[in-house]
Amino acid sequence: MSSEFEIIRRYFTRPAPSAALGVGDDCALVQAPEGQTLAVTSDMLVEGTHFPPGEDAQRLGHKTLAVNLSDLAAMGAEPRWCTLALSLPKADEAWLAAFARGFFALADRYGIELIGGDTTRGPLNLCVTAIGALPLGQALRRDGAVVGDDLWLSGTVGDAALGLACLQSRVTLDHEAREHCLNRLQTPEPRVALGCRLRAIASAAIDVSDGVAADVGHICERSAVGAEIDFDRLPRSAAFERSTEPTLALEYLLAGGDDYELAFTAPSVQRSAVAAAAAAAQVPVTLIGRIVSGSGVTALDRAGAPIPLRRIGFDHFR
Ligand code: ADP
Ligand code: MG
Repeated sequence: MSSEFEIIRRYFTRPAPSAALGVGDDCALVQAPEGQTLAVTSDMLVEGTHFPPGEDAQRLGHKTLAVNLSDLAAMGAEPRWCTLALSLPKADEAWLAAFARGFFALADRYGIELIGGDTTRGPLNLCVTAIGALPLGQALRRDGAVVGDDLWLSGTVGDAALGLACLQSRVTLDHEAREHCLNRLQTPEPRVALGCRLRAIASAAIDVSDGVAADVGHICERSAVGAEIDFDRLPRSAAFERSTEPTLALEYLLAGGDDYELAFTAPSVQRSAVAAAAAAAQVPVTLIGRIVSGSGVTALDRAGAPIPLRRIGFDHFR
């Protein structure tokens, strides 16, 4: 059985060349690059709340960091440093090794350095604080959407919610659809390159973790505007298309969580710039609607009529 210090040394002490001081002292020391501002975010994954008991440790390592990188992406920040606070029921070497493998594989891909944390015994609880950098005044905030702006979405939505429904035996998927949706749920890919390239282009952005309607609703609230979403335009994967009937599709596309795509707004004159940013970041983007005066999010059907979302039993994004 390892002590707390052996765990830290063995699994979580790695070189952090871009920090002035990494793991091992009371604090890490970092320096904002000249002319840049630091973006700081924390996200926690709790066993039983965010993932089921017995979830694969390597995938948890990935997701714990990925959800934080997604917040940096939504701000247009480049990942730089992170800390990791772990509460573990026991010092399980195989679990720790697998968790660290998933965590550092993703960290290395995005050049983010682990510079500190905390390790304690308790219910399984994984919390990362991530720090990113971006040029002063260029953050993609939630409060910049303007009436007349286009509303965009990266990737596809609904897959993670469908994956969760499959895990919970609420839907049955074919093998390929199941693999696809579980991957989206358990090892999401943060849209970091897209977020950084949208800096000078988008007027507002958010990452979609609670469902498109709820998260676009946050942009609306902070920007004091409304949004219309053309339901038919919501991008869906082939696996999603062939696995859902209309009522389920409506719910998962608008209110499914855990997709970690970016929803963002931009003036219409930026359409070709948005397309170029998406191409450079190698992430598809779809124009899904527009910012309007008023408040709240309205989903429209093909004929342009509002879809009565309350009637099918969910209004948690109001
Ligand atoms: P303190 O008691 O001063 O909080 P700790 O003994 O908790 O210090 O941690 C010792 C060092 O190890 C600190 O630099 C801390 O940031 C780092 N650390 C602790 N847990 C982790 C972890 N899970 N991942 C990375 N670094 C960690
Ligand atoms: Mg401590």
